[in-house]
This record gives sequence, structure tokens and C-alpha cells, in this order.
Amino acid sequence: MFPPRSAYLHIPFCHRRCFYCDFPVVPLGDRASAEPGAPGAASIAAYLTLLLGEIAAASPGPPLSTVYLGGGTPSLLLPAQVGALLAALRERFGLVPGAEISLELDPASFDQTRLAAYLQSGVNRVSLGGQSFDDGVLAGLGRRHCGADLLEAAGWLAAAQRQGALASWSLDLIQGLPGQTVPGEALASWRQQLGQAIALAPPHLSIYDLSLEPGTVFARRHGRGQLELPDADLGADLMELTWAELSAAGYGHYEISNYALPGHACRHNRVYWSGAGWWGFGMGATSAPWGERLARPRSREGYAAWLAEPVREGGSGVPVDERLLVGLRRREGVHLPLLLAQVGVGALRQRLQPWLEAGLLRIEGPRWRLTDPAGLALSNGVLRELLAWWQEQQEGLELAGARSQSSCAAPPAPGPGLAAALD
Ligand code: SF4
Repeated sequence: MFPPRSAYLHIPFCHRRCFYCDFPVVPLGDRASAEPGAPGAASIAAYLTLLLGEIAAASPGPPLSTVYLGGGTPSLLLPAQVGALLAALRERFGLVPGAEISLELDPASFDQTRLAAYLQSGVNRVSLGGQSFDDGVLAGLGRRHCGADLLEAAGWLAAAQRQGALASWSLDLIQGLPGQTVPGEALASWRQQLGQAIALAPPHLSIYDLSLEPGTVFARRHGRGQLELPDADLGADLMELTWAELSAAGYGHYEISNYALPGHACRHNRVYWSGAGWWGFGMGATSAPWGERLARPRSREGYAAWLAEPVREGGSGVPVDERLLVGLRRREGVHLPLLLAQVGVGALRQRLQPWLEAGLLRIEGPRWRLTDPAGLALSNGVLRELLAWWQEQQEGLELAGARSQSSCAAPPAPGPGLAAALD
């Protein structure tokens, strides 16, 4: 594995928790701000002290080529606080010239002056959490901003890019919304949303499917029969519509949820999907600097206690099943013979034959990939079959290991939550 050249910093604070969100976040209330004396300011300052301490105590490594400040709502931080985090990274690792430094911003949590100050501090790429242009949809998602806030924020980002102060920016939208279960209406409404997004000309778009995560408001409503989501067929139609509209507008589909104009694919995200290592800092953040994955506690108290441990335990190699699923979701697919050298791919080819024949899966030399858009849109069936196959291989390996050795540790179980993620 190459030395890590990327770092993720988790900023967990939000004004409120959106109804679909299960991220490690700390809601501070709608009036919260990092300005001294404001509600939430002391919590933010105390957390940053921990975060800066974790960065300073990290093992040395080569200069970073990508940094991503995500959350949470990182735009709750003052520009000086963002600058201090970047200075800490610079001091610990260094930053290569032209490093991609991304900051997540939420509409209605910053203004044009603050944006300029973030860019002055070294940020050169912004990810804008828009989610929808529709006020009713935004309220239904539990978001704090409205459509006008999103349009205004996007305008500031576009202007900054035109002026050369911002290298690139991305807009997040959610497709497959609650209640949008009538195909004609759902497709018409989503086409209109895509049109609004394209009109803003963001160089990058992240389009996420709404998924029900345990413990969220939406999961509870769904459990009570009060929330309906589009079915799989409509979900696939929405994804195909996204692909068609964005392709026609010049966007390349470089990962299942991500589209970019030429030269604007997110370099940081590609690190995760490539299998290279990365640093992670902060509550709930996962790091894998040398191939060993280490997840931090998802609460502030747990994170503080974890930082205080003299030797931090944990970490496990990125599981093969996770690398399979992540790899297949990328446009370039995955080098399967290399990844599965231990068990071979002959039987897998037979098992996935129906998807190969249906044109959803393609084998190009050593690389296996889902076709775009049909394979990516209907990926769950292929991925579920792949996961079942890999679990059977694991059981076979365990059996062989038990036969050949009088005593040995069982191989690690497949990564938790992957099957659930496909449901
Ligand atoms: S703003 Fe983002 S991170 Fe915060 S609660 Fe909403 S979805 Fe989650």
C-alpha cells in the first residue's frame, strides 16, 4: 500500500438532525454559531481542541494531496477555525502544491463574506448540501434551508469560480423522495429538479438515493406505515433519467452517485474508491492509513476517551467484500482476478452469468464493471449475489483452514452492514 496522501476531518456539528440522517452529528440548535458567546460556540471550541490534538499526535507521513472537511455542517466553523485545522495538517504532513482542499457548506449557514474568508484560508473546493430546490421537499426532509437559500449560495459559488477564487464545487441532491411513488409525477418532478441544477452549472453533482437508516425519524415513520418510498423499479427509472439528463449536459458518470464535468471529478473521493490509504480525524471518522481500518467512537465523550487511551486498539484490513462492492460501483470497475487471487473467479463468472447476458455486467480484460446506466441503476441484485458468493467462499476457506491446522483463528467475518446496505 502507498503511504496515505489524503486526510478526512469530521466536523460533527449541525443546527438540527435531518429526518433521514444517521451520521455521527451533534445538533446544536438553529441559533448555534461558533462566534464567541453564541449558543454552541463553547462545544465547537472544545471539540476543535481535541481534533487539533489528534492531528498533532498523528504519525508523520508524506505531504497531503487531498483534504476533505466533512460533517456535519463544517460551515458552522469560523474561517479562522478552518484555517487552524489546515495549518495543523500543514505542520504535521505538509500539503503538496495544488492540493485539493474541500469543505462541505450548507445553504443558509454562510454568506458571501464568509465564503471569501474560507477560500482565503486555503479551501479551493466546496461541496454544497442542497438536496432539493423545493421548499416543501426540504421541509419534509427536516432541512433548515429553503430553495431560495440554495439558489443564492450556488450563485456565490459560481461567481467565486468565475473569478478564479474557487477551483471547483459540487452540488448534492437527493432523488427518490418520500411520497414520490407515482412514476409519472415523480419523474416529472425530478426532471425539473435536474433542470434547475444544470442551469446553475455546478462542475460536479452528487446524486444520492434516499435510504432508510435505523434510528432515524424516517425509519420510525416507515415502521409505522407513515412513509412510502419509490419502489426499486421507479428508483431505477429515476437513476436512468439522472444519467440521461446529466450526460446530455456534458457530465461524466464516474461513480454510482457522482457526476462531473471534465477535470472536476473529486480527487479525494477517488482515494476511498481506489483502495489507497487515508488519514481520518475526529469523532466518528474512519481512517485506513496503512490498509488497517480504524473507526473512531461516534460520540464526543467516546471520542475524547478514545483519544486519551495510551494505545488505541482496533482496526482491521478493509474487507474483501467491501472492496468488491465499492469497486463495482465505480465506472472503471474492479480488477477481480487480483482481488480474488485466493479463490479464483471462474465460479463467480458462472454465477453472475444472468447479469452478464442481460448486459448489466461487463468483463473487460481483468476488470469487471457494471454497465452505465442500466447496470448501475439495477446494481443491487448483482451486488447481493456477489456478497452471497463471497460469504460462501469465506466459509469454504474457514473449513479448509480448520482441516489443515489443529488450531487457528477464524478469518474475519465479512464486513458488518454490507448486506443491510443493499436492502
Ligand atoms: S445537515 Fe447533513 S450531516 Fe447534518 S443532520 Fe442534516 S444530513 Fe446529517
